[in-house]
Amino acid sequence: MSSESNVAENQETNVAPVNFIRNYITQEIEDGKLTSEQVVTRFPPEPNGYLHIGHAKTICLNFGLAKHFQGRCHLRFDDTNPVAEDQEYVESIQDDVRWLGFDWNEHIYYASDRFEKFFEWALELVDKGLAYVDDSPVDELRKMRGTLTEPGQNSPYRERSVEENRELLLKMRSGEFEDGSRVLRAKIDMSSPNMNMRDPIVYRIRRAHHQRTGDDWCIYPMYDFAHGLTDLLEGVTHSICTLEFEDHRPLYNWFLEVLETENRPQQIEFARMKLDYTVLSKRKLLELVEKKIVTGWDDPRMPTLQGMKRRGFRPESIRTFCERVGVTRKESVIALSTLEHCVREDLNEQAPRVMGVLDPIKVVIENFPQDSFENGVEWLEGPVHPQKPELGRRSIPLTREVYIDAEDFMEDPPKKYFRLKPDGKVRLRYGYVIHCHEVVKDESGRVVELKCTYNVETKGGVTPEGEKKVKGIIHWVSASQGAPVEVRLYDRLFSVPDPAGDKERDYKEFLNPASLKVLRQAVVEPAAAKAQPGDFFQFERLGFFSVDPDSDSDKLVFNRTVTLKDTWAKLNKN
Ligand code: ATP
Ligand code: MG
Repeated sequence: MSSESNVAENQETNVAPVNFIRNYITQEIEDGKLTSEQVVTRFPPEPNGYLHIGHAKTICLNFGLAKHFQGRCHLRFDDTNPVAEDQEYVESIQDDVRWLGFDWNEHIYYASDRFEKFFEWALELVDKGLAYVDDSPVDELRKMRGTLTEPGQNSPYRERSVEENRELLLKMRSGEFEDGSRVLRAKIDMSSPNMNMRDPIVYRIRRAHHQRTGDDWCIYPMYDFAHGLTDLLEGVTHSICTLEFEDHRPLYNWFLEVLETENRPQQIEFARMKLDYTVLSKRKLLELVEKKIVTGWDDPRMPTLQGMKRRGFRPESIRTFCERVGVTRKESVIALSTLEHCVREDLNEQAPRVMGVLDPIKVVIENFPQDSFENGVEWLEGPVHPQKPELGRRSIPLTREVYIDAEDFMEDPPKKYFRLKPDGKVRLRYGYVIHCHEVVKDESGRVVELKCTYNVETKGGVTPEGEKKVKGIIHWVSASQGAPVEVRLYDRLFSVPDPAGDKERDYKEFLNPASLKVLRQAVVEPAAAKAQPGDFFQFERLGFFSVDPDSDSDKLVFNRTVTLKDTWAKLNKN
């Protein structure tokens, strides 16, 4: 019943991580295309939500490459669409990137700081005859775009003169037209097999207040136009994005080419991170928060970095996870258990040990010689960490009344049950062997107390001569010396592997009704009683737990970060 048997059970650990982008850049450097220090990457979040584990992958990739090559990585807010953006997100994103362990130094940028430059470039496109103002209503624009199998149609406004386009674009900017009444489009090819090249929109009119530029602008540039040009302005060499943007790459390059730019960045795509039992769309995560299905962005069941932090994941384990899953161009779904494995492995190394009892039943040790000890407490000892003797030992109080977990007692057990049963024996970890001689029940038949005796000669693992060795060892907490705490047990938020996979059904139908269980009667040994939010422990035999910020001086609240073993792997095998 070792609590340390949880490492190295996952085959993922032995696979060398693939990172095709790192290999590709290494090759470029070997070919003399650039020097290692010239590598510049960026992490470009749109400040319209909190960061999640998918973003962590991109952050680890971009900042990781910069570190590996001794180049640099920028934090860039891709804030060109003011509608859903907010300063709250700008701040949380910075906190999260720092928490993950990365530093952009002075290289923090905002795409919105380039609005003037983007507009100049838009005028340049117009002057080159490569952009035009289109007055068609939105549904007309959509119709003219064609489909994957049919080419699009040229707009009746496509052949406007440079002068007319220039004048109209300036009027768009100065607010003479209504929202949505006109757009600026690049003039490329309406019959291109790539839909993105069919005269894509460059600017649209939208009177929305921007969190940085206020009401200075009533037109905003589209992502495809602004993104590559922002990369260019920042001197980014490798603009890494997810595979959905592969078909946008010709457009990304088109703007850079027709504007005759130099030292152009290159776009490289990789497969986005997908996790089973999880949704990662910002829209869905926002819905969970707004409908109060979770308690907030930092609910410990959320796949957000804030949620994981509150749950007790350490950034080290998230970085290890991102490194291990690798970087490829092949879409795959990663098991949430792989992430949990990384968390468990990290905490197993880091967490001090204590005993906690989640669902207590009282054990009265009737022959315990209370009066022989000061305050009735015999002080036992256990290691702070079994593999780290240098961390020393902790004192564990034993008293006449202790709690054990209800799970460790069975009135009518099967054979080979090694925990406590009527007329059975079990060892209290770090203490003595106790013998249960009476089961006390309340009116409803529920077991409320076990009357036991202990054998003083069994202290510290000793089996007295002539006695059979007791196989079961259970955790326990002194009833008078332990601290009452609240414990929150988390399970997966969704009960199916792909909650958003069924187009006919809403992902919320697949919420796991048992994703949170609150235990209000739990107790922990005094070594954990003075802990602060963020502190973490292994509760021996139970799992890793961390102190939630909801704790106050009266009562600590513990989140179960992760169990000791992968309980799901077991279930899935059956
Ligand atoms: P949305 O949910 O609205 O599609 P997004 O998740 O793409 O938005 P951004 O703020 O644009 O949000 O993302 C910032 C960066 O994080 C982008 O470079 C994006 O490619 C990357 N990213 C987002 N989700 C994932 C993911 N699941 N795996 C890897 N990278 C991701
Ligand atoms: Mg995006």
